[in-house]
Amino acid sequence: MLDIPAQIKRQQIFFWSGKTHKVSFRIEALQKLKRAIIANEQEICAALAEDLGKPELEAVISEIALVTREIDFICSHLRRWVKPRRVRTSLLNFPARGSVRCEPLGVALIIGPWNYPFQLLLSPLVGAMAAGNCALLKPSELTTRTTEVVGRIIAETFAPEYVSVMQGGPEVAQALLEEHFDIIFFTGSTRVGRLVTQAAARHLTPVILELGGKSPAIVDADADLAMAARRIVWGKFFNAGQTCVAPDYLLVHDTVKQELLDRMTARIAECYGPDPQQSPDYARIVNQAHFDRLAAYLADGTIVAGGSLDRDTRYLAPTILDGVAWQSPVMQEEIFGPILPVISFNDHDDALELISRHPTPLALYYFSRDADKQRRFMTAGAFGGGCVNDTIIHLTEHHLPFGGVGSSGQGRYHGKASFEAFSHVKSVLERGTWLDPPLRYPPYAGKLKLLKTLFKWF
Ligand code: NAD
Repeated sequence: MLDIPAQIKRQQIFFWSGKTHKVSFRIEALQKLKRAIIANEQEICAALAEDLGKPELEAVISEIALVTREIDFICSHLRRWVKPRRVRTSLLNFPARGSVRCEPLGVALIIGPWNYPFQLLLSPLVGAMAAGNCALLKPSELTTRTTEVVGRIIAETFAPEYVSVMQGGPEVAQALLEEHFDIIFFTGSTRVGRLVTQAAARHLTPVILELGGKSPAIVDADADLAMAARRIVWGKFFNAGQTCVAPDYLLVHDTVKQELLDRMTARIAECYGPDPQQSPDYARIVNQAHFDRLAAYLADGTIVAGGSLDRDTRYLAPTILDGVAWQSPVMQEEIFGPILPVISFNDHDDALELISRHPTPLALYYFSRDADKQRRFMTAGAFGGGCVNDTIIHLTEHHLPFGGVGSSGQGRYHGKASFEAFSHVKSVLERGTWLDPPLRYPPYAGKLKLLKTLFKWF
């Protein structure tokens, strides 16, 4: 293992040199990263196929293009974002000029998970670099091939005092968390998110947490069922359900439940063929421990689609589970796999109340043609973000900050939000010297009344 304190020190010294403060340096570095990603695309896809059986199209759109498109978007706006922004000032402070500027924080620690092991490490890195920081990355230990490839790409592209990768499991993450970073960006489980926050508190380090949760897909009686079936099946079984914003469970109106389940079952066959195990378009479960955890859920309801499994190849068919009780194990924890429990509802209030009994979801999806009902479901409760009449694609929008709330996380990123997440927003008031009314200075006698009057006006 690298000497962690020495490596952080090297990055601090490089940061203090001021090189990363220059916008031209940041843009050049981001473009260098993009070129390295494109040059290694085949190898990244091969590693993801080995680790997760990830289909090439899924790897390209969700791991590679998300990062390269983010680089393009950020590079085309960065010069504007770094400029100090003039703000209005009160006449009480006249003469004065106010400005707000985003400044780099220093050395960022970025800890990633295994489900999108490339994108969820590199996308925060793009934000950290855009904001002018140095970064130390700790990838997941579960996706060994991808982690290896990421380590090599970063080592070949950047000097270690600017960006470096530290491989290892929880013990390495804990050793890193002992040290003082200027910001920690963590993507992973809510359980580990708590540990990260506790460790960060020792140094008062700001923390961004991108965690998980149970994200419902709600299908109302008036929804376009063919569309809902297509979009829910895609969002749920993409990467074999191992997506933080995947619909975790389906809440469907009683009157359309049977039709929706029939359509979804047919849709699974259309997408993955009669035997999804033979499909080149369907991923595998990351390891045997997660496979066993998921397989146990199959007993929690009636299997209406899928249900077949093969432990040796970590294959678990796209599965729909009906007749599930709210109290069953599959409804207690985030599933994070290709099992979709189905629960029906009659009444909107009941549906919202039931959702609110779970910890705040990272995402919520609502399918209906009615604008009033759409508004109601999008505003009634707390959730990180979501879609009306679709699933998971909100995270591909540069102008939509992405993040959780409550137990699904804190802070947000993507696009400008990524730049801001890794910046300190510094406010400066520049005062003129040609006027200095004596009102605020002691002795105060007789001044309060006049000040109160001025407060009313300005
Ligand atoms: P995890 O919390 O087990 O691991 C994440 C990272 O933390 C890994 O790098 C791991 O090495 C490290 N880690 C593990 N135990 C640790 C400890 N005790 N101390 C310090 N570090 C530790 O998560 P995971 O299994 O890799 O990922 C799955 C979870 O991540 C799911 O809950 C999912 O919803 C969530 N997730 C969230 C998002 C998001 O954007 N909100 C994205 C992907 C995954």
